[in-house]
Amino acid sequence: MSAYEAIIGLEVHVQLATASKLFCSCPTTFGQPANTNVCEVCSGMPGALPVPNRQAVHYAALVGLATNCAINRRSVFARKNYFYPDLPAGYQISQFELPICEHGFLEIDVDGVRKKIGITRIHMENDAGKNIHAQGENLSYVDLNRAGTPLVEIVSEPDMRSSAEAVAYLKALHGIVTYLGVCDGNMEEGSFRCDANVSIRPLGVTTFGTRTELKNVNSFRNVQRAIEYEIARQQDVLDDGESVIQETRLYDAVKNITASMRSKEEAHDYRYFPDPDLLPVEISSEELERWRAELPELPASRSARFMRLTGLPVSDVEILVQSRGLADFFEQAAAKADPRKVANMVLGPLLRECNARNVNPAKPEQWAMQPDAVAELVHLVDEGMISAKIANDIFGDLFATGDKPAEYVKKKGLAQISDSSALEAVVDDVLQANPAEVTAYRGGKVKLMSFFVGQVMRATRGKANPALVNALLQKKL
Ligand code: ADP
Ligand code: MG
Ligand code: ZN
Repeated sequence: MSAYEAIIGLEVHVQLATASKLFCSCPTTFGQPANTNVCEVCSGMPGALPVPNRQAVHYAALVGLATNCAINRRSVFARKNYFYPDLPAGYQISQFELPICEHGFLEIDVDGVRKKIGITRIHMENDAGKNIHAQGENLSYVDLNRAGTPLVEIVSEPDMRSSAEAVAYLKALHGIVTYLGVCDGNMEEGSFRCDANVSIRPLGVTTFGTRTELKNVNSFRNVQRAIEYEIARQQDVLDDGESVIQETRLYDAVKNITASMRSKEEAHDYRYFPDPDLLPVEISSEELERWRAELPELPASRSARFMRLTGLPVSDVEILVQSRGLADFFEQAAAKADPRKVANMVLGPLLRECNARNVNPAKPEQWAMQPDAVAELVHLVDEGMISAKIANDIFGDLFATGDKPAEYVKKKGLAQISDSSALEAVVDDVLQANPAEVTAYRGGKVKLMSFFVGQVMRATRGKANPALVNALLQKKL
């Protein structure tokens, strides 16, 4: 068996979160009854005229600016002609020779190695409808609600060499479009979907091998698995002395295989030509500068900053910056207490509560708990008012109620006992109740110290100041 290298390029379709469709005023709302968000334009009636949605142009340019692309101040919509039942016009309106953005790149980190992945182009296009193949019925339905929804397609260079690099690129892109707020990022609903082009070549060869295209793989995990399966399959094909056929393959997540769907149409089969119903899209230089100025801080820069702020490793910080909402929440709390302690509280108890309560960790605006409460809780532990264990135990209640930590601790009588005369009495009781252990300890069984500490903690329901308990026990024993 020979050694091979994989070559991967991704085509990512991003649904833009505009209120209306790309060329008509129909709403883009997901999950409506079939064919209710439809008009003569998006259902492809002959003679109906498209009018471009300026917000979609704005969003597409933001994606290009955030991915280091050159923005074409003049781009052209073109018809991509093909027949499909969910495309009643017989063509998709896309961009071909003059897309809105070109020549960008993204940086990814895999196993501590930083790498640039080129972005060939980003173009705008409208989405198709959906064919629904009803189970047990020998017929199919067409739902045009999605038809005309604005998309950008982001085409990468064939720069990735492993499934891990592909997933890192995809996550970076997902982070960018959700931070920009131009896409809801929902992969299950198809707002962010990926086709993966995969080929392999023997190590040392510099030309590319024949690629296959894996369609609509709908989660990060499936992208990883589909690419890995496809690399192994192509290796088997080449090892058997056969050739890889250029084709489109569908990934089956249940069986974890890819299967041939159709052999690949060549680009020229689409007979692209500029859409005569649409003027070129123009962007003035003032407008472009205005859009550039509104770019938020993006995940890569934020995670570098949070690493400096907290001293935590990239694996932790990546979780904090996963969504703009969670990163904002962390940052607001970290402004008022030790950033590293705040980060640990967010990464530990806070995300645990989100998970246990099925609460979206990306949407703190929906939580009862405010960032100030996390900062206050960190202070209560720092000042010795409560132990770290109690902070952890009460986190769930604080998260659910939004109560102020200091008030909650007072109300529940949870303040740590740091008054030595009060604790001394408890320590005396414990020693009196366990004479055998006391004798054993004095005889050299010093491991019993933790037993005594445990007894004092039990008697005080965890509220005793641990340092003080230790000191008192040492003194008395
Ligand atoms: P098409 O429009 O037919 O899908 P493109 O030329 O636009 O073809 O390429 C689509 C994607 O395929 C790009 O992301 C590109 O990086 C990738 N790609 C091109 N050649 C290869 C190859 N030999 N192996 C893997 N990926 C490739
Ligand atoms: Mg393609
Ligand atoms: Zn419409």
